[in-house]
Amino acid sequence: MKVKKAKNFQAPKGMHDILPEDQKYWRYILKKAEGLLEDYSFEKIETPILESTELFLRGVGETTDIVGKEIYTLKTKGGDELALRPEGTAPTARAYIENGMQVRPHPIKLYYVEPMFRHDQPQQGRYRQFHQLGVETLGDTSEAVDAELLFLAHKILESIGLHNYNVHINSIGDQNCRPIYIRALKDYYKTKAKKICAQCRVRVKENILRVLDCKEEICRDVIKDAPQMMDFLDDECRLHFKHVLEFLDEAKIPYILNPHLVRGLDYYTRTVFEFIPDENASSQSSVLSGGRYDKLVETIGGPKTPAAGWAMGLERLILALKEKNVNVPQIGIKPKVFLAQLGDVAKRRSLLLFEEVRKAGIEIKSSLGRDSIKGQLRIANKLGVKFALIFGQKEAIDGTVILREMDTGVQENIPLEKIVDELKKRLKK
Ligand SMILES: [Zn+2]
Ligand SMILES: [Zn+2]
Repeated sequence: MKVKKAKNFQAPKGMHDILPEDQKYWRYILKKAEGLLEDYSFEKIETPILESTELFLRGVGETTDIVGKEIYTLKTKGGDELALRPEGTAPTARAYIENGMQVRPHPIKLYYVEPMFRHDQPQQGRYRQFHQLGVETLGDTSEAVDAELLFLAHKILESIGLHNYNVHINSIGDQNCRPIYIRALKDYYKTKAKKICAQCRVRVKENILRVLDCKEEICRDVIKDAPQMMDFLDDECRLHFKHVLEFLDEAKIPYILNPHLVRGLDYYTRTVFEFIPDENASSQSSVLSGGRYDKLVETIGGPKTPAAGWAMGLERLILALKEKNVNVPQIGIKPKVFLAQLGDVAKRRSLLLFEEVRKAGIEIKSSLGRDSIKGQLRIANKLGVKFALIFGQKEAIDGTVILREMDTGVQENIPLEKIVDELKKRLKK
C-alpha cells in the first residue's frame, strides 16, 4: 500500500500569522491609540467580519478597486450573498442605522480595530487579511470634526514614535459642485485618450476622478495640466475647506495641499486626506487615510447624516516601527524566582506552590515538563532570576522547599508555609 505523504498546509496567499514575538507591537500601538481615543470620547464598536455584499456595492461603489476587483464574496447555504469586510466605514454606518444611534446625542464618535480583507497583490506590509484601526464621527457637518480627526491622527502617530509624515489634504467638493468639475475633467480628457495608460482610459469612462492618482509616468504629464477641483468648489465647500485648514494652522499641523488627492472610494465628499511618509522613508505608501462622507449613511438607507473618519493600516505601522527601531516594551513578566521540581509528587504539588508565590505578587516562572534539576537550573540562570525554588520528592514529602540564591549557590531548606514570606523578605533587600 502506498503511504500518502502528509500535506504541508500553508496560510492562504497574502495572509499571515501574527507570532508571539510581534505581539508587543500590537499591544504598544493599541495601548497608545486607544488611550488617546478614549480621552477624546471615542467609543469602541465591533461589527461582523461578514456583511451583505450589497452594502459595499452601494456604499463604497462598484467601480472602486476594493469592491470592483478585490472583494472576497461568498454565497451561504441559505443563498445570502456575503462579503468579507474590505473596509470599516460602510459597516459602521450600517450599524449606526440598524441600532438606531440617530436618537443618541450627536456627534457619535466611534472607533474600531478589525481585520479587513482585500484580494490584492501581496507586497511588503500589504496583506490580503490585514488590520485597520479606524475612527468615525457621525452626525456633524462642522469643520471642527475634520480638524479633530486630523489632529487625533497626528497625535496617535506621534505618540507611538512616528513623526515623519506629511499630511496631504484636498477637498473634492460635494454633489453640488463636483459634477461641474467632473464635466470639465471629462472635457479635458476627451483629447487625451492616446496620452494615457490603458487603465486610465477605463477610469475616464467609469470613475474619472481616479485618473488623478494614477502613478504611471505618461499619465503624470497629463494630470499636471488637468483642471483642479479647488477652482470649482462652490462657496460652501470652499469655506468649509478653508476653515479646516485654519484649524490645522492653529494646531500647528503642517500639511501639503494636494490637488490630485481624490481617494479611491465613492463615498467621500469635501475633505480628503492621507498621511504619507516623507521623502526619506523607504516606502511612500500612506499609513493613514480618510475624509468626510456626508452622503454615505443616506446612500445605504439611513437618515441624512454628515460624517467623517479615517483608518490606519496596522501592519504598515508596525513595519515602520521596526524600520525606525522604535523601542517597544516587551510583553510578559520579568521573573525573579524560578521553580524547579523533580518527581511526580513534587510536580503535582508545584502547581499550587507556583500559584501561591504568584498570588503574593512575586514574578515567578517554571517549566513543568522538564525532569533534570540541572536542566531547569540552567533555564533559571538564563532568565537571570535571583532565586530558584527546588522542590524534589523528599521536600514534597517533608513539606519543605529548597531556596537557592542563584549568585552564590547558597541553599537553604524552608518550610513550605514560610516560603512566600521568606521570598518577600529576601527580595526586598
Ligand atoms: Zn460644494
Ligand atoms: Zn494612468
